[in-house]
Amino acid sequence: MSITQDIDDVLAYIKEASPGQDEFYQAAHEVLYSLIPLLEQDSRYMEFNILERIVVPERSVIFRVNWIDDQGKIQTNVGYRIQFNSTIGPYKGGLRFHPSVNLGIVKFLGFEQIFKNSLTGLQIGGAKGGSNFDPKEKSDNEIMRFCQSFMSELYKHIGKHRDVPAGDIGVGAREIGYLFGQYKKLTGEFDGILTGKGLNWGGSLVRKEATGYGSVYFAQNFLEACGKDLKGKKCTVSGSGNVAIYTIEKLYEFGAIPISCSDSKGTIYHEEGIDLLRLKTIKEMHHDSLESYADIDCSCVYTPVRDYPKDGHAVWDIACDVAFPSATQNELTLRDAKKLKENGCILINEGANMPTTAEALKFIRKTDILFSPGKAANAGGVATSQLEMSQNASMAQWSFEEVDIKLRQIMKNIFKMAYDTSVEFECEGDLVTGANIAGFRKVADSMIEQGAV
Ligand code: NDP
Repeated sequence: MSITQDIDDVLAYIKEASPGQDEFYQAAHEVLYSLIPLLEQDSRYMEFNILERIVVPERSVIFRVNWIDDQGKIQTNVGYRIQFNSTIGPYKGGLRFHPSVNLGIVKFLGFEQIFKNSLTGLQIGGAKGGSNFDPKEKSDNEIMRFCQSFMSELYKHIGKHRDVPAGDIGVGAREIGYLFGQYKKLTGEFDGILTGKGLNWGGSLVRKEATGYGSVYFAQNFLEACGKDLKGKKCTVSGSGNVAIYTIEKLYEFGAIPISCSDSKGTIYHEEGIDLLRLKTIKEMHHDSLESYADIDCSCVYTPVRDYPKDGHAVWDIACDVAFPSATQNELTLRDAKKLKENGCILINEGANMPTTAEALKFIRKTDILFSPGKAANAGGVATSQLEMSQNASMAQWSFEEVDIKLRQIMKNIFKMAYDTSVEFECEGDLVTGANIAGFRKVADSMIEQGAV
């Protein structure tokens, strides 16, 4: 049987066994097809049935989360923890609290996490979790009660050598604090079972900034490899959460001009450059909508979602040199990709997980636009989480500079590994292929070495 036939069979199996999990199917399709050059070179992966094994999570935990709202009413949400692959280390991956969370989304994120974690060069397996709970417009007490209830089930499945969750969309320092407090109460142990912790109780400096900073380091490495750099480049950024904010901060340090940000309600275009302090005040302090950014007298333009182009997002209509999609999955469509090309964009650097739709990616890969896949470009967050785990294990606290230097080096290594692998497989600069093969090969080789478990 041919390799493509084998891949098609695995994908057909996923579709049949996991109906309605479109995002998972999209992620698996992209990864498996990009592995063809490796599978042609080394027959062991087919012999040991690695493709069929790697698309099935080792464990899926789905649980009910009951919590009491401020009116005294019992509310119910669904919690998930998908422990996808622990071949190269304990499970690691974030928790997402967002109404769109379902099994398919958590599985796509967990699947991507396997290869991302492998690319970091650190010993961490892949997992992801979360809930369809919406933290927006909930009081602090409601969020605390939800987190406590969520952890009352999750604590049975995690551990410092077993599974160490972190934050993601809707899960920041506040939620990690409530989750950690409940874990400690239930177990009586002060263990490093979560990352993204507060600095007073085991957190690491730079963890908050790591994904955004890492994304910019990655972009700079890619541009340098092509004889260019970020200085003076106009950059569009989508999102206005953790990843977007620290992408914007680091872009300024590199002398670039970040000219946009967005949220679920609209997009800001600020030609002179996003006012970082104003953005942090609105989003980090007040958890408010970006609409208020435009209230203050400035030359910025606010486009509400209702005025977005059909099948697209206003943020990608803004002419830029480099685009940093940093909000959520499938936020950059085929129409958006064509617009970026038309406007002369030279690099799309994914800060979010799978922000580019399958059709858009297919189009981009046929153009001369450089493309950094999220599993490589946004791996700085999980890499710094692992640095937090190292500090916890050795009871040490490294300085901001120490962690940042390590992060910079890790991003350089990830870029080099993805780039060198693309050269090895004769598709120089195709980092989708390079990152997928490099991430997969380490896990697959380890699966073979560990036998059929
Ligand atoms: P945050 O919750 O801090 O911010 C998310 C941002 O994206 C917000 O601006 C939010 O707008 C916007 N957003 C979320 N969902 C949608 C949607 N359906 N439509 C439009 N806008 C939306 O999350 P992060 O910044 O942490 O995460 C952003 C991306 O980066 C995600 O894909 C995540 O998986 C990925 N990532 C995050 C890492 C981390 O360390 N935090 C690590 C690696 C990847 P609003 O405020 O209006 O909801």
